Amino acid sequence: MTRKYDFGKVERKWQEVWEKEKTYEPDFKNVPHPFYNLMMFPYPSAEGLHIGGVRTFTGVDIYGRLKRMQGHDVFEPMGLDGFGIHSENYALKIGAHPASQAKVSEKRFYEQLAALGNGFAWDEKLETYAPEYYKWTQWISIQLFKRGLAYRKKQPVNWCPSCKTVLADEQVIQKRQGTSDKEQGNAVGVCERCETPVIKKELEQWFFKTTAYAERLLKNLDTLDWSENVKTAQKNWIGRSEGALIKFPIINFQLRFSRRGPIPFSELRIWCLRRSMNSLQITNYELRITRK
Ligand SMILES: [Zn+2]
Repeated sequence: MTRKYDFGKVERKWQEVWEKEKTYEPDFKNVPHPFYNLMMFPYPSAEGLHIGGVRTFTGVDIYGRLKRMQGHDVFEPMGLDGFGIHSENYALKIGAHPASQAKVSEKRFYEQLAALGNGFAWDEKLETYAPEYYKWTQWISIQLFKRGLAYRKKQPVNWCPSCKTVLADEQVIQKRQGTSDKEQGNAVGVCERCETPVIKKELEQWFFKTTAYAERLLKNLDTLDWSENVKTAQKNWIGRSEGALIKFPIINFQLRFSRRGPIPFSELRIWCLRRSMNSLQITNYELRITRK
């Protein structure tokens, strides 16, 4: 005789028990062996949870369970990272206000996250778009500003005209354009989300002066018990702040194959950054049209 295993029934039953008995709520006043099992919170950028998020949360939750079995008091918080471009773009797409959409998404996301049956500490959940939370990120920004570590500056940035957002270099992927042999060589930088060609835009924006800590960050990497791959990535990232915009004046140069007649250019601009300690990478170049 075969008996059918009723997932829905069994899982619901035990999840109710865990909730009632606060199985995954650590007693913060009495934690002899604390273990903070933090994972990146999902951002509500669609109707429901992305399966890639579920994959990550499952891995982290398994680790949390191992730590519990080893006698640790595991704190595994959950929340929603809904302050930012992904959630805003989703709200724009469906024609809703990001603030009111957040309340709708919240309900669905928490239902789905709870259904996973992971050991989340629900009493401590937080949303990054809640004023009680972001008042602290604002407070941190003010402290940085007061100490000259936050400043405004005009700088060329990677801009996706479709997402209407600035992209980090890592979010710009190189894609070959065209299908003919002749065109095959031309790779253009496109947005990793929507594949729209990325443009360079001069934009006034806020910066944190992380360069003030570059030396300390680099030095302290040696003391970390991280894999060499991750350390190298961190080194490159820290070193990335050393970039330069080089401008070459152009005399008597015109592009002749334009349909609108020859285009005179006055300047070649090359933006390059230090990718690693011993290599330079040109991330963008452009020809400036001569102004009449
Ligand atoms: Zn885009």
